[in-house]
Amino acid sequence: MIPAILPTYNRAPLSFVSGEGSWLVEADGRRFLDLGAGIAVNVLGHAHPGLTRALTEQAQALWHTSNLYQIPQQEALAQKLVDATFADTVFFTNSGTEACELAVKMARKYWTDKGQPDRHVVLAFTGSFHGRSSAGIAAAGSEKMTSGFGPLLPGFRHLPFGDHDALTEALKAPDIAAVILEPVQGEGGIVPVPDQCLKGLRDACDETGALLIFDEVQCGMGRTGKLFAHEWAGVTPDIMMVAKGIGGGFPLGALLATEDAACGMTAGTHGSTYGGNPLACAVGNAVMDNVADEAFLAEVNRKAGRMRQGLESLVASHPDVFEAVRGSGLMLGLKCKVPNGDVVSAGFAQQVIVVPAADNVVRLLPALNITDDDITEALDRLDKAAAVLAPVDA
Ligand SMILES: *Cc1c(COP(=O)(O)O)cnc(C)c1O
Repeated sequence: MIPAILPTYNRAPLSFVSGEGSWLVEADGRRFLDLGAGIAVNVLGHAHPGLTRALTEQAQALWHTSNLYQIPQQEALAQKLVDATFADTVFFTNSGTEACELAVKMARKYWTDKGQPDRHVVLAFTGSFHGRSSAGIAAAGSEKMTSGFGPLLPGFRHLPFGDHDALTEALKAPDIAAVILEPVQGEGGIVPVPDQCLKGLRDACDETGALLIFDEVQCGMGRTGKLFAHEWAGVTPDIMMVAKGIGGGFPLGALLATEDAACGMTAGTHGSTYGGNPLACAVGNAVMDNVADEAFLAEVNRKAGRMRQGLESLVASHPDVFEAVRGSGLMLGLKCKVPNGDVVSAGFAQQVIVVPAADNVVRLLPALNITDDDITEALDRLDKAAAVLAPVDA
């Protein structure tokens, strides 16, 4: 018999009932150190007092109206995002997938309005992840996500990740509307795009006019130690997808764009019932007020340095379990030699939570405000988990 919940997830036999900071409490009372943060969502940890206050105060005043009316909380959040980034304008969604949908629509509308409707192809990269809608799976293109769901949304072309020559060649095609990529691949196994490649990509797009879309759903919102990951390379996109961390656990996403890229999106061309409602934006504003702050990001970088150093030692002491550390800021991956699922399970046994990714990697995406003590404790628990998987010779 089919379960009451559509069985599309492989769930661990864990059920959390409360949380505080980087800790989660299981129904049986055990405390778990959370290095997954709801897959890069809980950027300020669990039960953050400022976020809880923002949510409850707004909940007592007004939950939802409609985008038929002005929403001051939405205007305030849009202005914060515009002030902090390359963008001139923002559309709010409930998720990263919906931001992807709009990114693709915006790029196609852009070229249609420029009198070139045949420029509708979006170039994407293998190993990427852009969400589970029809456009999202067509954009990522992996067999695992698309199999059985045909016919796929047409107008996507895929390139091997990290092959600049293939990219320059592909961009010469007359039907290219845009290029979409994650500055740090998340689901694909925590793979950062080198700064030089992002610069080369920006230049290549400028030459042909193709719009550049960055998917910062996972790597954005302070995760890499800058508010957005592309800032490290000193380049800006034309369009950017944001979600996960922006709501700190409340469903919220956003699509940011330059005035030029957004020129086709006039009244009536797009919409969302919930997108950017007062409750979501009250929380989003509180997240931005905490994260878009130089002192906060400096702390992320300092802690990331400690975490990375600790993980390098972990790899060195467990050469049969781990191969390498990779990633950027507090978006870290451990490439495993044993199956990554075994590492996740061994972590559960030590009450530390890590998240699997493709390419046999486990991801560490802790709350950005994780404490130094919790980092020390996390490294200690990971060390114990690894020792169980492959006992180190005394
Ligand atoms: C999670 C993710 C998405 C999809 O976001 P949802 O909120 O699950 O729809 C898109 N792109 C990237 C890079 C992601 O990590």
